[in-house]
This record gives sequence, C-alpha cells and structure tokens, in this order.
Amino acid sequence: MFNKIITALAPYDAKLVAVSKTKSEEDIMRLYNMGQRIFGENRVQELVAKAANLPKDIQWHEIGHLQTNKVKYIAPFIDTIHAVDSIKLLNEINKQAAKHDRVINCLLQFHIARETTKFGLDYEGASELLMFLKDNPMGNVRITGVMGMGTFTDDMDQVREEFKTLKSIFDRLKINWFENVDSFREISMGMSGDYPIALEEGATMVRIGTLLFGARY
Ligand SMILES: *Cc1c(COP(=O)(O)O)cnc(C)c1O
Repeated sequence: MFNKIITALAPYDAKLVAVSKTKSEEDIMRLYNMGQRIFGENRVQELVAKAANLPKDIQWHEIGHLQTNKVKYIAPFIDTIHAVDSIKLLNEINKQAAKHDRVINCLLQFHIARETTKFGLDYEGASELLMFLKDNPMGNVRITGVMGMGTFTDDMDQVREEFKTLKSIFDRLKINWFENVDSFREISMGMSGDYPIALEEGATMVRIGTLLFGARY
C-alpha cells in the first residue's frame, strides 16, 4: 500500500504525512525503512515519547487540535503544526520556538466540513490573524499554508466541493498576503478515504493513517 500511495502522489509532487497515531514504534520503523520520513501524530504525549525513541531525521508533524499549554513539549523538535486556528496558539508557538532558537512551520486550519464540531478558521478569521501578524511580526513561526478536513461522509461530491473551497481559500490568501512568499505553498488535505480527490483538487500534502497502518482500535 505504501508504494501504491507514493506512486499516486508522484505526478502531483505531493508529500505523504504518514499518520502513525496509536501505532507502535515498530510500525513506524517499518515505513521508515521503506524511506518514509514524515510522520504525523495528534496526541502530544505520544508524539514526544516516539520522537525521543526514534531516528532524529524523522520530520514530525502535529496534525491534531493543539492546546496552548502543550506547545512547550513539542517546540524543541516539531517540524510542522497543521491545526493553527488562533492568534493565541500562534503566539505561544512563536514564544516556545524562540526558546529553542527554531522556526516552526504552521498551517492555518480552515473549517470546510459540514460538521459543526470541527475546529478551524473562516477566511475572515484568517485575515484577522494575518493582520495581527503583520502588525506583530513573529520571527519563530512560518505560515507555510492551509489545512482542512472534509466531512466524514460517503458523498464524495460533497468532499470534493469542500476541497475546492480550501484550494480557493489558499489561492486568495496567496494573492492577498503571500504573493512573493515561496514558503507559503502547502495545502494539507485528504485522508485514507478521500486522498485521490484531494490530489485532484490541489493537495500538496495528504495525511494518511488507516491505509498505511491498518485500522485504529
Ligand atoms: C487521524 C487523522 C488522519 C488520518 O486519518 P485516516 O483516515 O486514518 O487516514 C488525518 N488527519 C487528521 C487530522 C487525523 O486526525
């Protein structure tokens, strides 16, 4: 399955975030030995423990909703945080990254799904955040793109529309805020059930767990 996914990503030049939450270090090493280097986790405690034990050239991504008081635990090593949806969180990431003299990549999470329970910004909220950032530059965070989750549904037309929405948000942000900023380039969308659609709609990063590691219990 790993090779099949890598082959599917190649024409789009998209990256695979292997979502290893709840999976063992042996499971991770099996993919690592096949060449995978980007792994995504959502629970901070689990992420910190795995990062301490596993090879240092793994690029760890925090993909879940992140509480402000947990940022300090991952700041020493985290490469990218996918679910930034408030100035408060961004401020804390900047503060903790500075302590380690690091720059942490951050994706702005948008609410694109129909479910009301999911976190995320709308375009207006993102504009406010970026306005704040313009007035209060943060040297230890880098906004590298956007992230979203489609509705959990079998209706792939709906999911496609949601991915189109995220792509158009990215395009608007690019024009209005990041026109000459090459590092603003990532669209993180697509999971096991919908990643081929996400790629068709412009994903540069897909986050896949179940297809790679089997079901989580
Ligand atoms: C768990 C998770 C994934 C992976 O989901 P699968 O359906 O197992 O591929 C992707 N993104 C986020 C934010 C997740 O929490």
